[in-house]
Amino acid sequence: MLEERYLDLFQDLSGIIPGERLIRDDLRTLAYGTDASFYRLIPKLVVRVDTEAEVGEVLRQCRAHRLPLTFRGGGTSLSGQSLSDSVLMQLGTGWRGIRIEDEGRLITLQPGVVGAHANARLAPYRRKIGPDPASINAAMVGGIAANNASGMCCGTSQNSYRTLEGMRIILADGTGLDTRSQASRDRFRQARPDLVERIGRLAERTRQNGELAGRIRRKFKMKNTTGYSLNALIDFEDPIDVIQHLMIGSEGTLGFISEITYRTVPDHPHKATALILFPDIRTACEATTLLRNCPVSAVEIMDRAGLRSVEDKPGLPLDLKNLDPSVAALLVEIRGETPEDLDRHLGATTRSLADLPTVEPVAFTRDPAEQLRLWNIRKGLFPSIGAIREIGTTVIIEDVAFPIDRLAEATLQLQQLFRKHHYSEAIISGHALEGNLHFVFTQDFNRPEEVRRYRDFIDDLTEMVVRSYDGSLKAEHGTGRNMAPFVELEWGAEAYGLMREIKAVFDPENLLNPGVILNSDPRIHLKNLKPLPKAHSVVDKCTECGFCEVNCPSRDLTLTPRQRIAVWREISRLRSGGGNPARLVELTGRYAYQGNATCATDGLCAIACPVNIDTGKLIKDLRRLEIPAWQDRTATLLADHFGLVTASLRMLLTATHQFHRLLGSEGMRQVTNWARKFSGNRLPQWNPYLPGAAEVLTKSGNVGRSPLKAVYFPSCLSRTLGVAGDSGGQPSQNRKLELLMRKAGVEPVYPENLDSLCCGMPFASKGFERQGARKQEELQRALNLASRDGLYPVLVDTSPCLFRLKESAHFDPEFSIYEPAEFILKVLRPGLTFSKSAGPVALHSPCSSRKMGLDNALRQLAELCSEEVIVPDSVGCCGFAGDRGFSHPELTASALGPLKASLPSSCPVGYSTSKTCEIGLSLHARIPYQSIAYLVDECTEGRIRQGGGKDSGDG
Ligand SMILES: Cc1cc2nc3c(=O)[nH]c(=O)nc-3n(C[C@H](O)[C@H](O)[C@H](O)COP(=O)(O)OP(=O)(O)OC[C@H]3O[C@@H](n4cnc5c(N)ncnc54)[C@H](O)[C@@H]3O)c2cc1C
Ligand code: SF4
Ligand code: SF4
Repeated sequence: MLEERYLDLFQDLSGIIPGERLIRDDLRTLAYGTDASFYRLIPKLVVRVDTEAEVGEVLRQCRAHRLPLTFRGGGTSLSGQSLSDSVLMQLGTGWRGIRIEDEGRLITLQPGVVGAHANARLAPYRRKIGPDPASINAAMVGGIAANNASGMCCGTSQNSYRTLEGMRIILADGTGLDTRSQASRDRFRQARPDLVERIGRLAERTRQNGELAGRIRRKFKMKNTTGYSLNALIDFEDPIDVIQHLMIGSEGTLGFISEITYRTVPDHPHKATALILFPDIRTACEATTLLRNCPVSAVEIMDRAGLRSVEDKPGLPLDLKNLDPSVAALLVEIRGETPEDLDRHLGATTRSLADLPTVEPVAFTRDPAEQLRLWNIRKGLFPSIGAIREIGTTVIIEDVAFPIDRLAEATLQLQQLFRKHHYSEAIISGHALEGNLHFVFTQDFNRPEEVRRYRDFIDDLTEMVVRSYDGSLKAEHGTGRNMAPFVELEWGAEAYGLMREIKAVFDPENLLNPGVILNSDPRIHLKNLKPLPKAHSVVDKCTECGFCEVNCPSRDLTLTPRQRIAVWREISRLRSGGGNPARLVELTGRYAYQGNATCATDGLCAIACPVNIDTGKLIKDLRRLEIPAWQDRTATLLADHFGLVTASLRMLLTATHQFHRLLGSEGMRQVTNWARKFSGNRLPQWNPYLPGAAEVLTKSGNVGRSPLKAVYFPSCLSRTLGVAGDSGGQPSQNRKLELLMRKAGVEPVYPENLDSLCCGMPFASKGFERQGARKQEELQRALNLASRDGLYPVLVDTSPCLFRLKESAHFDPEFSIYEPAEFILKVLRPGLTFSKSAGPVALHSPCSSRKMGLDNALRQLAELCSEEVIVPDSVGCCGFAGDRGFSHPELTASALGPLKASLPSSCPVGYSTSKTCEIGLSLHARIPYQSIAYLVDECTEGRIRQGGGKDSGDG
């Protein structure tokens, strides 16, 4: 039950924010409260805001009720700064706006824009935003700015602080400020003269204090996110400029950033990369000092333990196993605007390293594939520790910086500290040019003696970084709760006093993210530690980093993959007797919809996960465990008589189609909505893009005489689902592909017993693993037979079905099996002449294509047919998930919410390679989506193949 003060706040907010955006149930407060740190606080109330006006009102109401509030972006923070045990403010879908000005030199971003999405929009201008945290694919601009996050290229000259052009801010009392508008600046001076004046005085006082100003200047030459951005007080004179720069790195403790404009930086296209092995860390650090004066864009250092942690990974370009124990590596990247630039930069860099001993000769590569392999060594360090850790332990990434000229000494001393505290698995890597070291180790917080070990280690570490080197305790990741007890140690009493004054001026009632950055509890970094109990083998390695969240189709509807895992962990903890049984019942009950029913099980989460976790597999397993015996028997029956099932479905679709014609779309919608409601949502949702029945193919192809043959397996979906009502008399997809194959001079060969074949996905996705596996084996046998053990290539015309086969069946390596885009490119293209005769076309790669790395093939094919191919970056998985789009249409509606607005009105049609995705896409884009085969057929002529073949051209 919610405490009375929160109930009052809830009541008052109810008049302002719609009920579905005021969240207070046990499951979602736990789920939405989780971040990437090793701390756990559960908010009492989560408020999802969509506009600046709502933010202002929530701030005013929290102030009126004296209740603390924390802002949340992507929740990838590592230091415990995006948590709350009071009110958590989440960004709704209304904060993803991007505006580009001045040929890409300026970009204005709302705080909910994911960093990588901003860069994708800047790519055509060959520019990017300055801040480049390794988490840029998941972190949002609000969080990036509020943490002053940075990465391997941006250093201290391209971070949010240095590239800030302007900002819209909402302060604790609800006052707004747009620093790019003179009128707003003037209004703000009148509305908050107290704040403007006090900040002005603070800045002046600091500037006049030569010693303190010098220290601030010195400390910010290094990367530093410990405490507030005190450099704002000495870098700017106008208090409003000071205010906006203080917001950078303020971790949500001073106000809300509702928009930010960055000056962008060049993104040079020409690159060369080398992994340079040095005999020891000292030489590697010496090289770093030399490289500081060279035109290099990134220098990443890795110690021997780090190299050892990835030495068994497949595809490594170097043998890392047999290196001496003292070896250290630098991964160096050089960029140039033109190839000539790059040559010049390369020459200067290699010359400067010429006198240093290396284990192997220095060799830069310009081959993108080789470069990727080299970067994968660096990127693999964190997952490799995550993967080897014991279940129940957490992975900690620390983040310190030392003066560059003492980097070698500091690294050796750090290694000594690991030995002293028995962190034998700890590895060191980091942005060497900045003296910024990250070290990763595993920590058990379940036992008091282990917590003490961590405490002692941190005490030693902070002493060493501050007293021996005057370094930064948090170079990039923000102070949070983790380093709050040590801010004064690092900065000294005078600077710390300034920070306290800043907080008091901005937030006198200490309501914004209290306890973060400034905290009077010297042991706060050891409190509220997050339990990570054993939950399920599929997800036990999850570090709750949040990288998987942005791609998940249910993220705006119910839960993300990380949240599914966090809640399942809590359910498992409660089940093993760790807490309140009523809470267990509550969480389990809600998980059925929030966690289970609305997971599309598409597995897109695995692509972004550093430890390859497919949360969909957890959900499929939970579905399997819940299946009652009668359903299992029914599934077996359906699998045994699959031909009958597809035939019956075709009859049903024909009947539905007739009704649609009779009643019209509106009438049909009303009748089916009523029937669905009456059935308690058990009947599937009808929509006007639901196709009629597919044509039934004859198998005449199997006796044809063409020398070129390919096996064509139309999936059960394309054997069942034909074309939608408004498709202008087009043949169904299976027929279209057959005709296209013949046009390209390829004879389709059909597997025996086609009608009863299926890849097993409809069964497996609902947890009927056994039936799914049997169908998949049947299909594999049939494909082997039809292709004469791989002599003919095989086309599976629906991407998800091919993915399932590739994932679970065992074909010989030389067996060529394709989905439509790759099949057309590799097998049909020699028999077709393409013309770019189509107008603008939209494209959607199903998750399965992306997982197979085939999204480029689809794009390449579409670009052979049209000058304007549109791939909206706002849409990932469509959420249709086989038939889930019929049973849970709200999932598709949520996943595809931004689709229509992302397509220009000039785009009349879309293409994909998955039948059911196409239904959902058509519905929400309000334009028909079809198989890519239709586009290819429209834009090609058959031609004589070189070396034989037949031009059959079907028109
Ligand atoms: C594996 C891993 C690697 C990482 N690598 C890096 C790295 O290389 N460099 C780096 O700097 N960081 C790194 N981080 C930390 C983190 O990802 C970044 O700091 C990131 O910028 C945080 O962004 P976010 O959207 O997740 O913010 P959140 O974690 O949601 O929030 C961050 C802070 O900003 C505040 N905030 C959020 N939105 C607003 C807003 N609109 N207005 C005001 N305050 C707001 C929050 O209250 C919080 O204090 C890494 C994290 C992980 C898990
Ligand atoms: S399988 Fe899909 S819907 Fe389920 S958690 Fe992963 S990304 Fe989200
Ligand atoms: S599933 Fe993977 S990406 Fe998602 S939170 Fe866990 S570790 Fe991170």
